[in-house]
Parts: sequence; structure tokens; C-alpha cells
Amino acid sequence: MVHETGYYDLLGVSPKASADEIKKAYRKLALKYHPDKNPSEGERFKLISQAYEVLSDPKKRDLYDHGGEQAIKEGGMGGGSSPMDIFNMFFGGGGRMQRERRGKNVVHQLSVTLEEIYNGTTRKLALQKNVICEKCDGYGGKKGALEKCSNCKGRGVQVKVQQIGPGMIQQIQSMCPDCQGQGEKFNSKDRCKNCNGHKVERKKKILEVHIDKGMKDGQKITFNGEGDQEPGLEPGDVIIVLDQKDHPVFQRQEDNLIMKMNIRLVEALCGFKKTIQTLDNRTLVITSQSGEVIKHGDIKCIQNEGMPIYRDPYEKGQLIIQFQVEFPEKHWLPEHLMFQLERLLPPREDVMITDDMEEVDLCEVDVRTQERSYSGEAYEEDEEGPRGGVQCQTQ
Ligand SMILES: [Zn+2]
Ligand SMILES: [Zn+2]
Repeated sequence: MVHETGYYDLLGVSPKASADEIKKAYRKLALKYHPDKNPSEGERFKLISQAYEVLSDPKKRDLYDHGGEQAIKEGGMGGGSSPMDIFNMFFGGGGRMQRERRGKNVVHQLSVTLEEIYNGTTRKLALQKNVICEKCDGYGGKKGALEKCSNCKGRGVQVKVQQIGPGMIQQIQSMCPDCQGQGEKFNSKDRCKNCNGHKVERKKKILEVHIDKGMKDGQKITFNGEGDQEPGLEPGDVIIVLDQKDHPVFQRQEDNLIMKMNIRLVEALCGFKKTIQTLDNRTLVITSQSGEVIKHGDIKCIQNEGMPIYRDPYEKGQLIIQFQVEFPEKHWLPEHLMFQLERLLPPREDVMITDDMEEVDLCEVDVRTQERSYSGEAYEEDEEGPRGGVQCQTQ
């Protein structure tokens, strides 16, 4: 039994969520609240990471489900990794050693339709990124004109002395604002006018993202070395994460497509021909032979009309159809014709009614009352009211 749902609530999933649903929820939220994109939501980013760290590990999730956050803390299983480590592990950020000599990776989410993944496409993505200034080659100014910063005397830091009480002083060390902690700077006439001495400039870069047939929701496409440039550092990667939008007709499940199809009662009993519009705009015709009966909830499939297999796109999964039979409204058939219909249908079962049986009314179920009583809210301070269970509405 689940006692606490805080971690699930943070990720916006139900306590019954599958491992995949938890992954997907984390993916979306982590990208949204990453400090690069949402600097004011650092705390939220941390909480989401904590929740994911616990719920993504079956052992920790089980512990949490039984004993809540307390159990995680007591079991010494909380707070193992930093939010950034969890993020980098998830999106492939490389190890700590590597990161010191490389710029950081940038992760972007790209929203794609099911049609795009089915047919494959190329999307152009415009990014703003830092590139080494062309005018000064990342030097920041005239070669050889770098001077020791007079503000910090080349130390890169400045020390302020503050009196905080009688006879007590405090030293506060901070980065030198004049040279940005470099200890050296250009005087204004030698400074590069293009980058204003910053060594890099902001430029727009268009990336062509090739979406191959059969790629999956959450799949990553990596552009090596397309991250921000910085002098002396190897640039990090740009990582594009696909985010598939819901489709009005088809749902994807691995390589299969699933759709619901409504059929009339006459079609269920007497057969039909129906058409299906595929994701590449072909029209398929399906037939249920006369005499074949399709029941409500029946599932059929069409081979090789599912999603193309990634890297083997001539192969496809299955298209799975879930049938829903629409029954006619009440009183659709005039009373005097009813016996004709009955004559054609399989015979009914006769029931013998005897005097010791009780005749009762069959009435409609009030769905709202039913839901309330299941959630426990029906047990209020209402002394007179009927308790729980299904209640009938008098018509
Ligand atoms: Zn300085
Ligand atoms: Zn420059």
C-alpha cells in the first residue's frame, strides 16, 4: 500500500505509474526546470531530481511506497547524487573528469508528430550559442596588450574589510568585477570592439535534425561539439530529445500502433467494410465477412501496418484495432416490429418466476454518487443518508 505520494505528485504521475511513465515525466520536467532554462526554479529542479532518484530505482521505490520519505532517509538511501549528476546521467552528459576540460552539454526538447516519426523528416532548429569571436580569435583584444588589472593588482579577487561589531572585522572576498577574476584586462582602446573583450559572441546556428523512420519518444540525437564555445575548452554537445505529441487516432506501443474503431450493431452482426487512413496517407480497407460476429472489445490486427522499425524501416509492427460496438438508442424500433427482430436473434433464456421470489425495480445508476462513495467522501456526518454502495436514482 502506498502511504505517501509526494514524490509521485512532484513528477505528476500516479503511484501506479510504470517505470516508463516515470522516466517520461522526469524527462519533461527536468528539461523544463533545468537551471539553464529556468534559473529561478533551482529548488524545484532539486526536488524533481530527488523524486526521480527514488522512484526510478525499484528497491528505493518499494521502500518509499511502504514507509515514505522517512524510510528513505533512515535507510540511508536519499540524497546520493546531485541533481546535475542525475540529469547528466539521464541525458548523457559524460563523466566528471571529462566535464572539466569540456564545455557543458545543452539539452533541447523537440516536439514531433507521430506522422513525422512514421515517415521520417528533417527539422531545422535555430539555436543561439556562444562562438569564439572571429575578430580577435577569442583573445579579447589586441595581441600583447593585456595589462595587469589595477583594481585587484592581478589577483582576480578583491577583499573588502567590514566592521561588523566593536573591535570585530570581517573580510569578504569576491571576484574582481573589473577583470571578471582574470587578473588581466585590456584597456578600453585595445579591447575587441566585436565581443567587447568577452572573447565569445552570441550567434545563431541552424541545426538540421534528421528524424529517422521509427525513432521513439524520448530518443536522443547528439550533435557532437555543437555546444557553447569557450577559449581553451572543447565545446560540449547539443543533445536533442524527441517528444512525441499525442495523435488523435493512433497510440504507439513499441513498434505497434493501436486504434479504437466504432462499429454499429448491424456491422458487428452482419459484417462491414471500413477504411483506415494511414500515417503516410494511404487508405486501407478492412472487411468483416457477413456471418462473422465482432463483439464489443474485440481486438484484431493488421500485420505490417504498425510503426516502421528504427534502422530497418521496411519492416513494420502491427496495427491493432480495438472494436467498440455502438448500440442503438432506446425505442429505436417501433414496438410492433420488435417480435420480428426477436425471431431473427438467437433465442432468449426462459426464467421461471415463482411466488417465493421478490420482484424489484431495475433503475439507472447515479454515477456521481457512486464515485463519491468509492473515494470515501460519502461517509460524512449525514446521519440519515444511505451509506456507501451503489445508489439508485428514481426516474
Ligand atoms: Zn581585476
Ligand atoms: Zn573579439
